[in-house]
Amino acid sequence: MAPSASVQSAANGSSNGSGPATAKDWTPASWRSKPIKQQAVYPDPSAVDRATTELSRLPPIVHPHEIARLKASLRDVARGEAFLLQGGDCAELFDYCRADAVESKIKLLLQMSLVLVWGADKRVVRIGRMAGQYAKPRSSPNEKVTDPKNGETIEVPSFRGDILNGYHLEDRTLDPQRLVKAYHHSAATLNYVRAALAAGIADLHRPLNWSLGHVKDPQLKAKYTEAVHFLQDMLRFMHTIGADRSPKLDTVDLYTSHEGLLLEYEESLTRLMEKPVLPEEAAGKAAAGGNGSWPLLPTGEKEYYDTSAHFLWIGDRTRQVDGAHVEFFRGIANPIGIKVGPTTPTSDLLELLRTLNPSLEEGKITLITRYGASRVRELLPAHIRAVEGSEYKGRCIWQCDPMHGNTHSTSSGVKTRRFGDIFTELSETLRVHREEGSYLGGVHLELTGDAVTECLGGSEGLDEDDLSTNYTSFCDPRLNEKQALELAFLVADSYRQ
Ligand code: PEP
Ligand code: MN
Repeated sequence: MAPSASVQSAANGSSNGSGPATAKDWTPASWRSKPIKQQAVYPDPSAVDRATTELSRLPPIVHPHEIARLKASLRDVARGEAFLLQGGDCAELFDYCRADAVESKIKLLLQMSLVLVWGADKRVVRIGRMAGQYAKPRSSPNEKVTDPKNGETIEVPSFRGDILNGYHLEDRTLDPQRLVKAYHHSAATLNYVRAALAAGIADLHRPLNWSLGHVKDPQLKAKYTEAVHFLQDMLRFMHTIGADRSPKLDTVDLYTSHEGLLLEYEESLTRLMEKPVLPEEAAGKAAAGGNGSWPLLPTGEKEYYDTSAHFLWIGDRTRQVDGAHVEFFRGIANPIGIKVGPTTPTSDLLELLRTLNPSLEEGKITLITRYGASRVRELLPAHIRAVEGSEYKGRCIWQCDPMHGNTHSTSSGVKTRRFGDIFTELSETLRVHREEGSYLGGVHLELTGDAVTECLGGSEGLDEDDLSTNYTSFCDPRLNEKQALELAFLVADSYRQ
């Protein structure tokens, strides 16, 4: 493998081969000298230092070993051999760190991935927007709200996610202790994900609830029923031949991700750690005694890992080529995502790739495109041509986020999205990739396993009057379990055509 940056470097004064494989002139803190968007300005900076000092002593939340496994899977996605399903809440709250909420999300992602395996005929790599998705970019630092005490309109700091401040009006001041709380909620969530997976929550031989009673359109219902029968037959067959008892199939991998927005937090969890051996390297080197598992062979090479999550992405508002976020991201060995939308100049795209992935690592970068249903056909082809016509041809993952270009407010001011727009953007994206000869390798969704009523449409036919029934998101509207599963069926069906 090539080093993760253009030079084996110098960041810590070491330029010989035994030093860390870090990007030139980079340190976990070098973002601090760059212009920054969405900055957190705390009332007491010394309290931030105390919190980040505490964080920097705590153990990593994820291990480079797991990150290396994800990277190997993402390389398969970039090669068109696997499909990436990423999903979860827009803003994860500390309060979602509960067994039922975590379990329902794991089950939904598993169920969706089974449908996608059937449709795309490919292995599915799963990443949750969870165990750390606590920071939100906002269009304005303040917002107008109604004071519950007297009904008057007041201006308060915007809610920026549980890692910064609280949703309740009395909690809107930024509180650095929330950085430490975020670490512990992240760790507790991931601990339960690991425990639940190890205990067999995702066992493929457990009966899954596919209830399709809400699907009224007879044609759609017939299609979904056919897919479910196929999946049930497949699972029964695997059970009969004992394939579901193989350790590989008993459980599934689920990786974690969040937007890398709050750089004080990310910096304090970024550690110089030994680079693990990737599978093909292990296979080659371990011919002397390897067993195909994951021996952590000493490589003598160290890299910086952001150990707050397996995968991090740069949001639409913070991807300035010369900005602090890109500076921070260019030094970490994790796989990373970049949101790409109507405001991304084609020339920025290549500059970003050259800054963030100068060694042309396959699957290192996921381009998460989010244009909106009405603009995707106009804007996506030029972005594909720029990347696929460059040295990055076949090296990036194209992932469609059909949520963030399709948000609107109802006449009564409720933020929502139409299921139809979400599906249109996704199917248009798939079509454009087919026309351009590139591979749509994944989807990025905002969803929850709870029966919320936040997005309009889908087979339940939710309309504007239904939105108030169970609207619990404190940020963007999410697909509920039925809508998410239906989207998986529709995507699977598009792949089979
Ligand atoms: C998000 O993913 O919740 C988000 C804010 O997206 P974007 O950066 O694409 O607007
Ligand atoms: Mn969102």
